[in-house]
Amino acid sequence: MKIGLKLKSSIFLTLLLLSAVGILSILVLRGIQSNQRQQNEDYLIQQGEIASNYIKQIYLMESIKDPEAFINDRGRELVTRFEMITGMQVILYNLAGKEVANSRPLAGKTDVSLMMEYALQNTNTYIEDGDNIIFLSPLHNSSMQIGVLQFNYSTTSDRMFYTKIKHLFFYSGVFIFAICFISGYLYVRPLTLGILRLKNATQRIEKGDFSDLICLKRSDELGELSQNISNMGKKIKSQIETMKEEQHHLQQAVEKLEILGKQQKQFIGNVTHEFKTPLTIIKAYADLMQMYSDDPTLMNDAKVNIDKESQRLTDMLENVLSLSELENYTFEFQKEEVDIHELLTDICKRMNGKIQKYGLQLHTDLEKNILLADKERLNQVFINLIDNAIKYNRPDGHIWISCCKENNFICIRVKDTGIGIPPAERDKIFQPFYTVNKSLNGGTGLGLSLVRELVEKQGGSITLLDQQAEGSTFEIRFII
Ligand code: ADP
Repeated sequence: MKIGLKLKSSIFLTLLLLSAVGILSILVLRGIQSNQRQQNEDYLIQQGEIASNYIKQIYLMESIKDPEAFINDRGRELVTRFEMITGMQVILYNLAGKEVANSRPLAGKTDVSLMMEYALQNTNTYIEDGDNIIFLSPLHNSSMQIGVLQFNYSTTSDRMFYTKIKHLFFYSGVFIFAICFISGYLYVRPLTLGILRLKNATQRIEKGDFSDLICLKRSDELGELSQNISNMGKKIKSQIETMKEEQHHLQQAVEKLEILGKQQKQFIGNVTHEFKTPLTIIKAYADLMQMYSDDPTLMNDAKVNIDKESQRLTDMLENVLSLSELENYTFEFQKEEVDIHELLTDICKRMNGKIQKYGLQLHTDLEKNILLADKERLNQVFINLIDNAIKYNRPDGHIWISCCKENNFICIRVKDTGIGIPPAERDKIFQPFYTVNKSLNGGTGLGLSLVRELVEKQGGSITLLDQQAEGSTFEIRFII
């Protein structure tokens, strides 16, 4: 059985006080006993001496010659006289130890033969017999011992006094026991209740429940302990929350890394595949040129195609390098204040030749706006978009380029009247190497993914706007 702190403390306090009272009562009772014994002894010796003095007086007054005859003749008178003086039963013995006279002949007798030897040798001696002290005292005349007197002294009053005190101690012990137990219990109760609440609080903390972190309003060590437990709980809670948050971030980072790993694998697979195609064409033409070196049409065809494929390889290589450069975390944009109007006007001029070659018409609506960005990278972005608007346009088509400020954004739109992009392909065109229709162009499928990386890494966004009547419109937004 588990004994609680309350009961233990009460029992301990009670036992402590009880043992103190017990030891005290034993010492007091012993003291009373030895004091009573000493007083009785002194009193009886004194009575013996009074008796001897009385004899001495008779001797002086009556000039007695034979002590033995004196005892035998006047013994009866002497014991009666001594009982009157002392109030005790008195027995007189002669020097042979024989009883000569008894003040109460009918009263019971105790065997004193053993003690008599000492008394006859002039020594006071006594024994305790129940509630009586049998005291033998030598009786003297003026010069010698003439007999022995026995006093039967009743100690009933002493015993009663002793018993009374003993009972007093016993009842005070019982009273102290009850008072101590109750007051100890009442005093310890609030303490143990506090400890119990703290115990429950620590158990809840152990289970991860921080909902009720109690704080005992006490100014003693228990109050401090509860404050400490409460602080500890709060600290553990916040640490667990931080750990959970970190774990969540870590999980997200791991997931991101896994996706990146997959994308990288796919990217490398695509790069290998896409690089193989132009290389195979170049190799095939190189073989044909060796075999049919005398065929001028084939030679011309081969020259054009090798030139076209090697240009495609170069473009692809440049884009792949740019993309992998962007993947690198150490890549830094050289930001500066770029005048978008000026930049786009310049690009349009440079691309005008190609636009005209395809028989297209260019329309611009450019507001003057300043943007904090990497000028070179912005160049790459717009050239790619305008190049696509040329490549995928219809003959005699149009291209519109506009730049305006909308709320907190600078919006640049490149719109064409080309073949458009089917809704199902809208999300895919930004993936590396993705082309809607391979047979339509000799593109690499890397342009738009590079454009998106370059825009997003500078804090902007690119979207293909909802399909209009014809062609497609790309919109780039930068916050200002
Ligand atoms: P590339 O043009 O070299 O193939 P891009 O990444 O620039 O690669 O474009 C991906 C694909 O998106 C292109 O193959 C094309 O099918 C489609 N596309 C891009 N721009 C346009 C456009 N203006 N009009 C129609 N289709 C387009």
